[in-house]
Amino acid sequence: MTPYDIGRFNGDLMAALDRVSGIRGYDMRVLNVLDGEPLLLLVPTRINPDLPNLLVAAGFHGEEPAGPWGLVEFLTTCDPDLLRRANVSFLPLVNPTGFRVGNRYNMWGENPNYGCTDTAQAPANPSREIISLKNMLHEVLHLARDGFLTLHEDHRMDEAFLFIYNDDAEDAGFTACLRHVLAANFPMLAAAKLDEFAFTDAVWVPDGSPDCSFEAMLFKLGIPRCACTETPGQQPLDKRISTNAALVAAFIRHHLA
Ligand SMILES: [Zn+2]
Repeated sequence: MTPYDIGRFNGDLMAALDRVSGIRGYDMRVLNVLDGEPLLLLVPTRINPDLPNLLVAAGFHGEEPAGPWGLVEFLTTCDPDLLRRANVSFLPLVNPTGFRVGNRYNMWGENPNYGCTDTAQAPANPSREIISLKNMLHEVLHLARDGFLTLHEDHRMDEAFLFIYNDDAEDAGFTACLRHVLAANFPMLAAAKLDEFAFTDAVWVPDGSPDCSFEAMLFKLGIPRCACTETPGQQPLDKRISTNAALVAAFIRHHLA
């Protein structure tokens, strides 16, 4: 398959939306149009207040194709129970202009997953994608109230790793369930450091340095469990896609009563 075929991606996504809408009502919202490409949010038509609210995002970085395709695979094949027993919303492709050319940043050269905090370290001009999401921040926080998963890849790596944002008391096996999916499919990061980040058993250890990612912002604003998973871009694409679909399923299952 062609990893950056956005026409096929949009077609497969609409077919997947048809399926999930048949399981329970789903609405598609266009949060912004970026050079002709929609930034979409899929949200259950009716939020059941007795169920957990979860948000899954993919495609913040355009050269990380297995996240968006994995999300489509999840929507196309998942156990319907997972959609019925939680209010799960989806941002299937946050950075469509980067995705269609396989470029990390958007077509204006902005990093779509940066500049999300109000600290002095944040850049003055957040990306168009972040502005779109921040324009509806109140609703994003509601849709992600019980947890947020963002699917990333590292194109340099043949090992997987993950970033976890939570208080230990809120974890209750959350880290382990996502790590287990990655470890079942890929070798896990052996090094204790990658770029400026420190890891233990392939799980990032927060060290208090500034983090301007969208997931860091959601955690700071009260979302109890936020995870950023990284599948290894040097491994076969089909395996990365199926792993991302499995990560979404594990994330939802963890939150079911
Ligand atoms: Zn990324």
